[in-house]
Parts: sequence; structure tokens; C-alpha cells
Amino acid sequence: MTEENTEGRAQIGLIGLGTMGSMLALNIAEKGFAIAVWNRTTTVTHAFAAGAGELAAKITPTDSLADLVAAIARPRAIILMVPAGQVVDDEIAALRPLLDKDDLIIDAGNALFSDTNRRAADAAIQGPRFLGIGVSGGEEGARHGPSIMGGGVRADWDRVEPILSAISAKYQGIPCATYMGEAGAGHFVKSVHNGIEYADMQMIAEVYGVMRDGMGMDAVAISGVYDGWNKGVLQSYLIEISAAVAAAIDPKTGSAMLDVILDRAGQKGTGRWTIIEAQQLAAPVPAIEAAVLARNLSARLDERRAGEAVFGAAPVKMAVGTIDLTTLEQALIAGKILCYAQGFALIGAAGREFGWAMPLPDIARVWREGCIIRSGMLNDMATALTDDPNRNLMLAPFFADLLKQTHGALRKVVAAAALNGLPVPALASGLAWFDMMRTERSTANMIQAQRDFFGAHGFERMDGGEGKHGPWGSHG
Ligand code: NDP
Repeated sequence: MTEENTEGRAQIGLIGLGTMGSMLALNIAEKGFAIAVWNRTTTVTHAFAAGAGELAAKITPTDSLADLVAAIARPRAIILMVPAGQVVDDEIAALRPLLDKDDLIIDAGNALFSDTNRRAADAAIQGPRFLGIGVSGGEEGARHGPSIMGGGVRADWDRVEPILSAISAKYQGIPCATYMGEAGAGHFVKSVHNGIEYADMQMIAEVYGVMRDGMGMDAVAISGVYDGWNKGVLQSYLIEISAAVAAAIDPKTGSAMLDVILDRAGQKGTGRWTIIEAQQLAAPVPAIEAAVLARNLSARLDERRAGEAVFGAAPVKMAVGTIDLTTLEQALIAGKILCYAQGFALIGAAGREFGWAMPLPDIARVWREGCIIRSGMLNDMATALTDDPNRNLMLAPFFADLLKQTHGALRKVVAAAALNGLPVPALASGLAWFDMMRTERSTANMIQAQRDFFGAHGFERMDGGEGKHGPWGSHG
């Protein structure tokens, strides 16, 4: 794709000038690509163009879908940046009669990957062509460089890759825009990214709770701790912003901002999609499940209040010296490794189930910059996954060593939190997963015996011998 086209038309179109679409359009224009835009509410389109400053020269605002289509050079490529779900289907249906079979619709919203599979299958039959790309990094990422995870027909990706790479974040000059596989592969990876984001955020919030309620630290002191951690193994965007929000002061009351924010968390569903699919694929992601659970329970403020009235306030200040800040940092390092190990294992399982050649090392690479979960550790994950993409990340020598150094701290924090009534569901479930994953002789022999007892389901013997039922007699 060249930077200018012979027809003087735009090289790409974009529908939906909301938070993400408007920033993405400015990013595309800034990288030198001519772009035509359309928004359902026309006043928004014109306000956007009027506010685009010198980039306006690269932007063609249009007042109808037909005008948008006419403003783009053939074969056309049009990005949808609208709410996921029915709106995307409606826009595709509205565009279809206006487009040629070889034109390309790119859904860049947070679609459910199975919806993208369906739309890709429809597109293959009746056109136009279709790509589903996950875009991460929020408003700031969309404006200055998001992380982009693509899915669809490879040739369609290749067609728009120069634009997507140009606008993406760069890690040491390498674009964070990667093709993940057919159909919904890109949106699947984005969904798991968001699931990991939930768990990463939840674990940071859990250690915040230990510091606030268990150690009696104020927000400013907690900010300082995150700041320090951000210079070590935990260096990441999420730790960095946690330090910033903990330091912020409410201009209205002069209190720490964190102390005036209601503890009721929102969600848009990508975390839930991740854990539902993880269950379908029998590739559990307990840290992500715990994070979704925590957001759900956070919303039930009235029930929590009623619980506290009956049982008393759970969090009590821990005895001085129970947990120190180094132990807390190490616990978070262990929790983070376990959460990512679960997430990558889920992506691997999806690749095998859906026949996608999921490039696990490239996924770690594409998350190193631009997206919300970007962190120093992802570069080491890319290296470990390049070494052996089929090995669970927790077994890669680098991470196995880190886990050997830190899982004791995770155990201490989870134990102290449990004894003091501090909820740490993501850290605790990460630890339980770790302990199961490193136990050769588990307790599932009891489950098999129970199943055989009541349902004659049978079992395998450890000695490989004959006889797949127990001597339960008339009790069975
Ligand atoms: P916004 O709510 O800011 O913008 C939504 C846009 O879609 C607006 O331009 C709106 O137009 C348009 N729109 C809404 N309903 C319709 C409709 N029925 N028909 C046509 N156009 C419609 O959303 P975001 O920009 O935040 O999100 C867009 C997509 O990007 C979503 O899928 C979201 O999940 C995803 N995403 C969001 C991120 C974020 O940080 N916000 C990060 C990554 C992905 P109008 O002006 O007329 O209302």
C-alpha cells in the first residue's frame, strides 16, 4: 500500500469516531495515510475534522455511508470502531450493498471471537472480505501506538499490514502488530489479553489491600512502594499507573483519590468471555476467574455490607512483621508469572482446538509495547516461548528459577491474608494452580473411586493391571 494513491482518494476508511475511533483516525492521518471517516452522529464527524488541526489535510469527513465508500480508493479497506455485537453486524449489513467483493471490512472493536468466526465465514461466502483485529492500549494507545492482534485471511492482513504496522506501538523499533491466524484468532488473543489484564490488575489491587488494611499504610506510602517495584522485575504499565493513582489527591476533599473512589468495579465482558472459553477448552485460568469473580462481588456492595454487619469487618491489621514489603513484591512476581502461564496455556489450547497456528512468542512480543499489560517481563516470556512454545511457561528455566525464588513468598502472603481475613482470590487461586501443577500424585484417585462407586465409571490402575472397577459390592 503506497502512501498516496493515484485517484486522490483516501487509502482507508473508518466508521465510529468515539474514544478509540477518533484517536485511531488521527494516528493513521499522522502516519501519512489519507483517511475518510464517518460517524452515526454527523455533528461528531464535523467536530472531529474541525479539531484535527494540521492533520485535517489527510482526513475526509463524510456525511453518509455512500459518501464514505465513494471517498476511498479501490480495493477499499474500512475499519469499524463501534461497540461490539449487533452494531457490528448492522454496519456490515449496511456496507455490503455499497462495497465490492474484494473490499475489506476490519472490525477493530472488542468482538467475541466466535462472532468474528461467524462474520469471517459469511464474508467468505458473500463478501466483502473481513478481518477481525484486537486493538489494545486504550485512548492513548489508539492515538500514539496500540498493540494490534490480527485475525482473518492472511492475504487480507498483508494488504493492510503496512498501515497497521505504521500506527502500532514499537518495541525497540519492532511494530507491535501481528497476524495471529484465521478468522477469530486475533480477537481470541485480544480477549485473553484482557483476561490477563483483569488478573494483573486484581493482583495489584490485592497487594494494595494487604498494605492498606493489613499493614496500615496510607495511599502515598503505597504509591512509593509501587514506584520502587516499577524499577525491578515488576516493571509494567499497570504498576506505573497504580503508583500514579495512589499518589493522586482529590481536589474536592484533599484526601487521597483512592480513598474517595467507591470500591465497585465495572467490566465489559471480555474477562468473562475468556473464562467461559477456558472452561470449554479445559484449559483453566483460575487467576483470571478469580479476577472476574472479584469484580462481580465488588458490584454487590449491599450484600457485602450485610455480610460485614453479621460477621464483622474482615480485614484486621496484621501483627507487625507478619509480612514485609519484599515478601509482598515477591508474591506479586510469582502471581504474575502464574497468571501469564495460565493465559498462554489457554491460547495454546485454543490454537490446537481451532487449528490456528498461534505464534505464542509473537504474542508475547506484540504485548511488549502499546497495550495495557505491557511489562518488562514480557520480553523474557517471548524468549522462553521461542525456546519452546509447547512448554508451560512456568517450566521454562528462567521462570522456573524465578518461581523457585518467589513461590514461598506467595505462600506466606496468601496464608497471612487468609489468617487475617484479607481477601486475595487471584493470588490464592494462582498458588493453588501452582501446587496442583507441581504435584505428581494428586487426589484425583479419590474422585475416580467415588465416580466408580456411584456410577461404575471405572478407573485405571497405577500398576497397569486388569480390573477397572473397585470391590464396592452392594454399596456401589
Ligand atoms: P465509544 O462509546 O467511545 O464510541 C462508540 C462509537 O460507535 C461512536 O462513534 C458511536 O457513534 C458509534 N456507535 C454507537 N452505536 C452505534 C450504532 N448503533 N450504529 C452506528 N454507530 C454507533 O466506544 P469506544 O471507542 O470506547 O469503543 C469502540 C470499540 O473499541 C468497542 O468495541 C470497544 O470495546 C473497543 N475498545 C475500546 C477500548 C477503550 O479503551 N475504550 C480499548 C480497546 C477496544 P455516535 O457518536 O453516533 O454515538
